[in-house]
Amino acid sequence: MMAVKQTAGRDTLGKFAPKFAQLNDDVLFGEVWSREDKLSLRDRSLVTVTALMAQGLTDSSFQHHLMAARQNGITKPEIAEILTHAAFYAGWPKAWAAFRMAKDIWTEDGTDAKTAHANAMVFPIGQPNDGFAQYFIGRSYLAPLSTEQVGIFNVTFEPGCRNNWHIHHADRGGGQILVCVAGRGWYQEWGQEARALHPGDVVNIPVGVKHWHGAAADSWFSHLAIEVPGENGSNEWLEPVNDAQYDKLDK
Ligand code: MN
Repeated sequence: MMAVKQTAGRDTLGKFAPKFAQLNDDVLFGEVWSREDKLSLRDRSLVTVTALMAQGLTDSSFQHHLMAARQNGITKPEIAEILTHAAFYAGWPKAWAAFRMAKDIWTEDGTDAKTAHANAMVFPIGQPNDGFAQYFIGRSYLAPLSTEQVGIFNVTFEPGCRNNWHIHHADRGGGQILVCVAGRGWYQEWGQEARALHPGDVVNIPVGVKHWHGAAADSWFSHLAIEVPGENGSNEWLEPVNDAQYDKLDK
């Protein structure tokens, strides 16, 4: 039996509620979701999506489960049929809310949302950002564009993905500039309102300022990250942006 790997519990609540985090990652995902010999991942996705929709829980966790459902093999005609069927038992408005999110995940022309996002920009998406995955919630991708003189990287976030709070340090100079290239995202400095980001927006992040950046809950997002040259530059990674903070943004 191949365990389904999940670290969202520990990433988000590992310090605050270690037992809950362990039950989420090791029992719910590590044991229950992993019992593929009893029920396939596809069928488990079907049950989960229906159960969440029936409660009207169409938040970022629902979006995560819709994306998992697509990955687990549920096709566009099938999700349309599942939500239509469930609408009669769970409630019409709940199906409307669910369809709004499903439509962006199973896109009209048959290309998936990631491909559509890639086609919307001139820079590549690059490879899974495994080196920094521990500092992100959700999946991100990294494409190095310039690694000489000034480092420039295209960073792509899947919907709902964001990096942890962090600080760019340097003794002189330093900091970071973001140039938004595609999709919709957010930037927030500690103690400030979050700023919505759109293609063409530029964010100047001073040294020493605690902040995070990432995608909107319902959109892929890419920005160039430009490393401003400085002396003794380093990044200090802090706590994740928790779901309660993040889920408020689009409301
Ligand atoms: Mn940053």
